[in-house]
Amino acid sequence: MRLFIYCADPRPEASLGRKINEVLIAQGEQVMRLCCFGGPIALAHPKEMAQTFAYMTDQIRFAVKCFSPEEIVIVGHDCGFYNHFVALKGTSVAQKRKDIIVVMELLKKRYARNDVTVRAFFDVSSEDCIKFEPLHQNTAKLAV
Ligand SMILES: [Zn+2]
Repeated sequence: MRLFIYCADPRPEASLGRKINEVLIAQGEQVMRLCCFGGPIALAHPKEMAQTFAYMTDQIRFAVKCFSPEEIVIVGHDCGFYNHFVALKGTSVAQKRKDIIVVMELLKKRYARNDVTVRAFFDVSSEDCIKFEPLHQNTAKLAV
């Protein structure tokens, strides 16, 4: 079973749960969801988002230990949760993408021995088209 980690932003333009259901999850596929405001970004900001970082870390550790997901899918977007933290206000979309890559690499390292694949996507949907860009480590160098 796959574990999806994404932001709980309910605005129609965000609404990652709905978009993920439509594009990234096959019909009838059962998945685990770890969904809170900011989603995975706290894992890239352990100092600024210390409480959410601790929560996410604990939740992922529990999911891997108890439910052995074969894949963790991290989904980022132009997240407003950054603005909740003075030090992160005004974070650019390019930096938000890089943060998702940082999280992907962190989880890859952390759960490599558990045989967990880690993939990352960034929401680049427009009003009439749901689209997720797959992120790779070298995407960070391209996206400035
Ligand atoms: Zn968000």
